[in-house]
Amino acid sequence: MAEVAYYTHPSSHAHDTGPGHPESIDRIRAIDAAMAQADEAAATEVEAATGDELRRVHSADYIDRVLALDGEQGQLDYETVISPGSVAAARYAAGACVGAARAVLSGSSRTAFCAMRPPGHHAERDRGMGFCIFNNVAVAAADAIEGSHLQRVAVFDPDVHHGNGTERIFYRRDDVLYVSIHRDGTGGASGIPFYPGTGGAGVRGAGAGMGYNVNLPLPAGADDGEFATAWRHALDVLRDYRPQLLLVSAGFDAHVLDPLGGMRVTSAGFAARYRELVAAMASAAVPMMVALEGGYSLQALAECVPSVVRALSKFDDAGT
Ligand SMILES: [Zn+2]
Repeated sequence: MAEVAYYTHPSSHAHDTGPGHPESIDRIRAIDAAMAQADEAAATEVEAATGDELRRVHSADYIDRVLALDGEQGQLDYETVISPGSVAAARYAAGACVGAARAVLSGSSRTAFCAMRPPGHHAERDRGMGFCIFNNVAVAAADAIEGSHLQRVAVFDPDVHHGNGTERIFYRRDDVLYVSIHRDGTGGASGIPFYPGTGGAGVRGAGAGMGYNVNLPLPAGADDGEFATAWRHALDVLRDYRPQLLLVSAGFDAHVLDPLGGMRVTSAGFAARYRELVAAMASAAVPMMVALEGGYSLQALAECVPSVVRALSKFDDAGT
């Protein structure tokens, strides 16, 4: 067993989305409580993302608009709330992903997990949405390309919602592969749309990025078996790309207990999928880090996050 670099920060407890909001401080409290006994996790210091790091992904106008709200109460859209602590939380959430990616690239840690909020994958270049302020994983991917000079970074996003922000940010690029498993946002056969309404299988990238955007939509109600089939397809795509780094946008809102997702993946299912993912990356010697995105059942988070960290701790044994 190797220790997993584990990123938490008090700022995640100061992003107050208000009463009844699913993306609440209670999510981090539940994870902290569940992880209190986990000896695989090595607490790691977090630094806030810098303006230069954010500007690789977000427009200067948007960053200025967000930073002007520091210490204030506001809203980026109808469900993306800014409280006095939110801007700092968002900067630390993005900074944790940057730090985690650098840690696994440098070899100072084999693997890393970021248990931070707000989530990030809906945030686009010039707007926050869907509970997301900065696109944490995208900021880390851009840092790996521009800061660490990698040529191939893969982002795997099994959050139940399609990561429209990550897709758009890298849509025309072949140096970042985006692979998403999500509930079909376009309605599919059911005709019922699902947030954020994007993620069709035919949306594959453009220009140099053609073929480097892979959407694997699932119908509402998909269970462990359907999720596993899509997951193994995703693993094939990820392996074929031969990434130098894998960043996982780890949502747990496809869980059967989730109040928003409408899917039926179990905690055992998530644990098995992450073991497969770690084995696949370990056998190809791909450094990997996992960052929390969505997941709104506190019980599901308390069960799944420790199991993912446990899977990551077996990276060294998993590839053989
Ligand atoms: Zn989600």
